[in-house]
Amino acid sequence: MMCRYCKKDARPAHFQIPPERMLYVYFCDACRAETVSFADDGNYFSHSLYTVINDRMYRWTTFKGTIAGVLSHIGKPGIPGERPNGSVTNLLELKIYPNITPENVQEKIRFMLLFL
Ligand SMILES: [Zn+2]
Repeated sequence: MMCRYCKKDARPAHFQIPPERMLYVYFCDACRAETVSFADDGNYFSHSLYTVINDRMYRWTTFKGTIAGVLSHIGKPGIPGERPNGSVTNLLELKIYPNITPENVQEKIRFMLLFL
């Protein structure tokens, strides 16, 4: 699957979640972008961008079929393809989709954090 942002091939970083379910994850290291799917058929479930602000990792996720985006704090960052994220806390949900890209994700999340 291709990275939504740079259009290059994102590397497969799949792992299994209990019970016995595969989560198809594609990670682009250059963009720190993640695509998650429940099937290996090109359909996606969500897109996420990661960034670190003041030593804290944040994730911005948008979901298929909705314009809502969710800002989360990742307390225990995982390793793509090896270990899922832990201690994920959703901080903010937006109904309007701000155009967030790998280039501006840090600036946009810094702005959102001002309202929390
Ligand atoms: Zn990319």
